[in-house]
Amino acid sequence: MSSKIIAIDGPAGAGKSTAARRLADRLGFVLLDTGALYRAVALAARRAELDWADGDAVGALARELVADEALAMVRSDDGAMRVELRGEDVSAAIREREISSGASQVSAFGPVRDALLGLQRQIGHSGPGVVAEGRDMGTVVFPDATVKFFLTASLEVRAQRRFEELTERGKAVTLEDTRREVKQRDHNDSNRAVAPLKQAEDAILIDSTDVDLDGVVDDMLARVKARWGGA
Ligand code: C5P
Repeated sequence: MSSKIIAIDGPAGAGKSTAARRLADRLGFVLLDTGALYRAVALAARRAELDWADGDAVGALARELVADEALAMVRSDDGAMRVELRGEDVSAAIREREISSGASQVSAFGPVRDALLGLQRQIGHSGPGVVAEGRDMGTVVFPDATVKFFLTASLEVRAQRRFEELTERGKAVTLEDTRREVKQRDHNDSNRAVAPLKQAEDAILIDSTDVDLDGVVDDMLARVKARWGGA
């Protein structure tokens, strides 16, 4: 049986992670946070003292991690997903600001993206359904996804959300720095040669600038159900 796949793409801070998690909960689907995989590769590269700008070396490391089954997304008892790197829970470590920047750098390289492609598809087909979020879900990884969304919001709103998320976690950051980092990541993600961030032709565009995330999730759920004829 083929899995039902809901693809959510969009820039940093648009609310993809929260929307994807809530949608997966409400549908009883697996959540696939592909940014977490790129982040784990960036962390592993840093620990191996590789240069994030060395696409071949980081690509080889990513291939090795996949071959060793060293990258895993594990569902905890409380329902949260944790990311493991060689059996170690790195869920918090991969959210560091520096790793955000590293993930954005390493993800620009074809060898790194190729290394993670099969793993993403494997996780995507591992259950009756999956909500997959990232930058190229609808364009590259799951071009035949059942429903595709492109979730966006203004830079100001995305920077503000990201700033609140970081300060809630006790990080000493300024809104201005956060805004600059988000803008830089947008630029990297949208302008790279391989699998750049872009809306798939058949994706539904949702702008969350003036809508809270509850509203976004309700909207997504209604559209998913309409697509499936109420299933
Ligand atoms: O979504 P998140 O912010 O965790 O992603 C971290 C970085 O990983 C992004 O800035 C992007 O460069 C990269 N990424 C990607 N393709 C994906 C998911 C994430 O290039 N499908």
